[in-house]
Amino acid sequence: MSKALFNALPGTRDLQAPETDRIRALVAIFAEMANGAGFGQVVPPVFEEVGVFARLGEASDVVSKELYDFTDKGGRHIALRPEHTASVCRIFAQRRPLTPWKTWYYGSNFRYDKPQKGRYRQFDQVGVEVIGSNDPDIDTEVVALGWRFFERVGLRSVTLELNSLGDPEDRARYVATLAQYFADHRGDLSEQSQTTLQTNPLRLLDSKRPQDQAIIDGAPSPDLGDAAAAALARVTDGLDALAVPYRLAPRLVRGLDYYTRTTFEYVSSAIDGAQTAVGGGGRYDGLVEALGGPSEPGVGFALGVDRTLLAADGEEVFGPPDMQPTVWVVSTTDDLTGVRLADALRQNGISADRSYDGRSMKAQMKAANRSGARYAAIVGPDEAESATVVLRSLQTDDDQITMSQEELARFVLAQND
Ligand code: AMP
Repeated sequence: MSKALFNALPGTRDLQAPETDRIRALVAIFAEMANGAGFGQVVPPVFEEVGVFARLGEASDVVSKELYDFTDKGGRHIALRPEHTASVCRIFAQRRPLTPWKTWYYGSNFRYDKPQKGRYRQFDQVGVEVIGSNDPDIDTEVVALGWRFFERVGLRSVTLELNSLGDPEDRARYVATLAQYFADHRGDLSEQSQTTLQTNPLRLLDSKRPQDQAIIDGAPSPDLGDAAAAALARVTDGLDALAVPYRLAPRLVRGLDYYTRTTFEYVSSAIDGAQTAVGGGGRYDGLVEALGGPSEPGVGFALGVDRTLLAADGEEVFGPPDMQPTVWVVSTTDDLTGVRLADALRQNGISADRSYDGRSMKAQMKAANRSGARYAAIVGPDEAESATVVLRSLQTDDDQITMSQEELARFVLAQND
């Protein structure tokens, strides 16, 4: 039998350093900002009973076409999560934490979508959810948190689009108006949109097909009741007060069906490709109840980690953090001095690396220089004999210093002060 060569599946990526270092740095910033705003981390399971996600709306692509679902060995119908919000609502419904329950998350989602730049079948998001309060000031805080995050990352290409679909009865009224409007123009719509019109007229606003654009541009805007209109005004006043710029976008509908009132999206103009939304979210006042929980409102957002980094690439900001070792240990002796010195440095919190396989002094020094380390700690037979080590700066012309091996870590630490 010939040996099989396996490749990563379409829509998946093998992430490696330094990209993984960037991702970790990005998530660390998010974690710090979310924790600093009173959110605690939640880690839902990667898979759930399929019903948890079915509540997201049968008419949305995420549920109808893109779920990774399967039957497990116990006969349960299971799905890999396509997003976090439904799982967070399931956790709330099951465990009933005190409200308002403010959580943040980081993790992978799975959608069987058509892979392209910025759209993968496994992708990471960070996000927040607040369950248990109707206060529009929470919407403001949530929207502003996402905005401040992009600011912190150094992105200047992001714009914030804001809309409200109103309360369920406003939304129902709007859907009926839209259905009538699109039905009146049915003949001019693309074939695919004619089908969408049957299942979910709201989603038609999302069509990017050129044939539909003129009709979409002429579509009626959401028709908000007094309560939803007042809530939206409070959110825009709040964003104004925080000097967070936004654009009202009456055509903004998001891929999932559960949104009520506030919906928003962060879009970057720095991504070269079709997938320019770096994040989005909104209110989902009926979702917890749909999952068998109490009638508690919720609001949140999810930000695409991969796309945020694509935007950062486009703007040439947020490069990989500095991961070069501080010390490269060069040892040409047969004993364990090299292993010991690297361990002592690491125990003292100093990053250290070394060459293996008994390479020559010259080859090891070459590796040391290539590594970008600040120092080489060199041990040859003479140093091994006298328990000393030569510390040589690889970045300055300073004279090298000989010291006892015991002193090495303390000396390097003192240099960093
Ligand atoms: P959604 O959960 O669809 O509201 O998406 C929120 C954000 O997650 C989007 O704005 C994207 O930045 C990111 N995202 C969604 N789907 C994908 C995907 N298939 N691949 C990469 N990022 C995605």
